[in-house]
Amino acid sequence: MTAKILVVEDEPAIQELIALNLKQAGYSVLYADSVSQANKLSNDALPDLILLDWMLPDMSGVDFAKKLRRESRTKDIPIIMLTARTQEGDKITGLDAGADDYITKPFSSRELIARIKAVLRRRLPEMSDEIIEIGGLKLDPVTHRAYARMSHDSTWSMELVLGPTEFRLLHFLMVYKERVHTRTQLLDRIWGDHVFIEDRTVDVHIRRLRKILESAGKENLVQTVRGSGYRFSVEKHEESMD
Ligand code: CA
Repeated sequence: MTAKILVVEDEPAIQELIALNLKQAGYSVLYADSVSQANKLSNDALPDLILLDWMLPDMSGVDFAKKLRRESRTKDIPIIMLTARTQEGDKITGLDAGADDYITKPFSSRELIARIKAVLRRRLPEMSDEIIEIGGLKLDPVTHRAYARMSHDSTWSMELVLGPTEFRLLHFLMVYKERVHTRTQLLDRIWGDHVFIEDRTVDVHIRRLRKILESAGKENLVQTVRGSGYRFSVEKHEESMD
């Protein structure tokens, strides 16, 4: 999954340089040179991460970060602050405003990419390309393949034929294993937060996913938590069938 990064920076040369580096690293990039433009863009569709300059023409990056943290729709968005300031006090102000990390200009492109990767790995593990193995399932985000291990066999003997949505759903649930997700959360994170589809759509895809897992003898991994939502768990759960 390609992470979408919003770069909020009013100096065209720096904006261009950052955009070039991000694109080379495989990210998709949106630009804004002011807070009002950044607002407009994130109203259309939430980016996966915001690179936010401190000094902007219409509002400071720190105030914008605080504003993002106050609103329920944007409060969890990863933010990395960019600034020419080097004093310790400023760094603390940025982190206090809710930034996940802080980069001081001038910075190398390697540092920039490394920090973005670290924040995404921590905050959005579903964006990770790492192979994940839990409960007799193995999923590879790079090749988009998933396998099940049969109980009588120690090899990954069965490939699961998953549609793209079921694959993303399974990946998401596995990455956040044991955590309960509401239908709305799953819609926001897997389908995108401004896609208007019904909650029932989630149930349809969960049902499809379960059917595929059942065919591999893994029917209890995707569980319904009544009144709350769904979770991936290797623990037994009596409400698992709906
Ligand atoms: Ca600036």
